[in-house]
Formats: sequence, C-alpha cells, structure tokens
Amino acid sequence: MANASKTAKLTVVDKNIQIVIAGAGGFIGGSLARYFSGKGFTRIRAVDKKPLSEWYQRTPGVECLCLDLSQEQNCRRAVEGATEVYQLAADMGGMGFIEKFRIECLRSVLINTHMVESAYRAGVDRYFYSSSACVYNTDLQKDPNVRALKESDAYPAMSERGYGWEKLISEMFCQEYWAERKMKTFMARFHNVYGPWGTWDGGREKAPAALCRKVIAAKDKNDLRIDVWGDGTQTRSYMFIDDCVKGIDMITHCDTLIATPINLGTSELISVKDLVTLCETIGGVTLKRTYDPAAPKGVAGRNSDNTMIRRILGWEPATPLKDGMRKTYAWIEQQYKLRKAGKRTVE
Ligand code: NAD
Repeated sequence: MANASKTAKLTVVDKNIQIVIAGAGGFIGGSLARYFSGKGFTRIRAVDKKPLSEWYQRTPGVECLCLDLSQEQNCRRAVEGATEVYQLAADMGGMGFIEKFRIECLRSVLINTHMVESAYRAGVDRYFYSSSACVYNTDLQKDPNVRALKESDAYPAMSERGYGWEKLISEMFCQEYWAERKMKTFMARFHNVYGPWGTWDGGREKAPAALCRKVIAAKDKNDLRIDVWGDGTQTRSYMFIDDCVKGIDMITHCDTLIATPINLGTSELISVKDLVTLCETIGGVTLKRTYDPAAPKGVAGRNSDNTMIRRILGWEPATPLKDGMRKTYAWIEQQYKLRKAGKRTVE
C-alpha cells in the first residue's frame, strides 16, 4: 500500500446530487446503484434498455428508466439534471460473446458518443466511463507468463478486435471532452469483474461464473465431467464486484485522474486450469476435464499492473480470489436451484 498521506485527496460530494447510471440493468451498473444508495445518495437514476423485468438488480428508492441509449434523444432524457454520470451501458459479454459478435461490440460506440455529448450539453460535473483491459495491445499478451499491463501499454494500439477498439476510441472521446471542452471525465480499465448478480448462463457469462455453473450442474446431474475452453493455460486476474464499485467511486472523485485511463483490477494472476481447481474445491468435487483448444479463449495471458492506482489512490482491489469465488459460487448455486424450481433468476 502506498503511504496514504501522499495519495491524492478525493472530492467529497453532496449526497443530494443527481447521479445517473447507464447500463444499470446489468451487473456492474446495478451493483453501483446499490452501492451509492447504501452510501446515502438520495437521487439516483438508473437507465437501461432492457425491460425492467429483466434487470439484474433493482434498488429501492432508485428511479429506473428503460431507454435505448444508442439513440441521442434518449441520452438527453437520461442525463437531464445530472451532476454525475456513470456510463456502463454496452453490448458485451465474455469471450464467447465478444469473439463472435464484433459488430454488436463496435456499435456500443453509438452509446458512448451520444452519452458523452449529452452529458456535456447537460453541464455534468463528472463523467465516468467503463473501459476495459481489452484495449491493451494484444502483442503484449501472447504468453501466459505475461508481465502485468501498465496504462501506457495501450499504445501503440493493437486492441482486441471489435470490443477493444471500441473501448479505446471511446476513451479518446472522454479525453478530448476534457481537453477541448473542460468536462471532467474519468476512465477505468476493468480487468474481468465477477461476483453475485453477474451473468452466469446464456452465452455472455465470463469464465468465473461459467466454471461455477458447470461444477454446480455436474454435481446436480451426477455427471462428473467438465469441458474447459482453451487448453487451460490462459492466465487472467479477476476482480470482485465490491472492489470494482468502490474503485469507480474513488476514481471518479480523484481530480488527479481527470482524463487519465487507469487500471481497475487485481494483480492476482491465475490460470484457467487453477480456476477450475478452485471451483472444484469450493464445490467439494473432482471432475474429469476435457479441454477444447478451438473454443473462444482470448489472449494467452493478461494481468493488471497496479503501480499507478496504488501510487495515486493508496488503494487497489484486494479481495482474495478464493473469498470472492466462494460468494459467487454460493450465489450461482442459489440461482441454479431457483431456475430448476421454475422461479425467476438472473441469467
Ligand atoms: P452487463 O452486460 O451486465 O451490463 C451492461 C448493460 O448495458 C446491460 O444491462 C445492457 O442491457 C445495457 N445496454 C446495452 N446496450 C444498451 C443501450 N443501447 N441502451 C441502454 N442500455 C444498454 O455488463 P457489465 O459486466 O455490467 O459491464 C458494464 C460495463 O463494464 C460495460 O461497459 C463493459 O464493457 C465494462 N467492462 C466489464 C467487464 C466485466 O468483467 N464485467 C470488464 C471490462 C469492462
């Protein structure tokens, strides 16, 4: 941990400001709405294009609007009266989604283009944008024993096709809205977020949730086998959702970070093979594995260099993977049982 006395001061904001969270029907946006509500903020507007019945979480007292934010007039409506905007809406998913649906990923540029302009016109004070570690140059991620990626590694650019390039150009929009128009923008490059209320089935889920579900299903069906995407050597770091929402709050209220993309992730690197073992340990079972090297697997290795966040905020996401995964596994198991009983679940 950096010396707290040397770290940047965070701006304290009035609890009655109007906060707008775009993409709040999804995993991180929904958790952020709950987080701000828990901190005592009284005017939170949650926006998503999904019908309310499909939102993952709804926090009492939070205004909910169903709007398609790829349309400019809807963005204007969404940000009316806002002091702070958190832009998390995107058409996205795990590797199974972003390798197959590059056009959908690229089209999120419409959301980001209209949201940042609408926020500027509405006179928003702080604008947060959810970027991704997928912006990093893929040439630096060809080895499972990667060196961790630092913020400057995004350029020269060679991002993940589709999803990564869209994130990079949207970051550039945010930087220019500060450089040319003086709207304070903030950007975090998330590294694989997981936790309760995340997508766990249906094709958009990421590795931690998918592996928990597969272990739970194998036990439930007494069919003790598991298929694993890739050869299992791919490495990643995974950030627990509670760290993610806290990090978003800190970054957005740190003026040292205006227009400066920063990593938001853990530096606890793990291979997919070891992640399977962790899920098996939590589930109390050992499964026969089949690796599928032809399945979507993304880059060979990726880790977050947290030097900058430690230096500036004196903090970094630190929930141990085994603790976060236990909570995630328990939540998915509960969802699995609800679905089996024909009840409503988050998928
Ligand atoms: P999510 O899919 O759960 O949530 C995104 C939400 O955006 C969904 O509810 C979706 O309905 C909504 N949305 C999509 N298109 C929209 C539109 N046109 N108008 C309004 N709403 C729309 O995803 P998430 O995991 O909560 O991710 C949130 C943000 O963080 C995204 O921008 C994502 O790219 C970024 N991110 C996430 C991760 C991760 O590991 N989850 C990693 C890196 C970056």
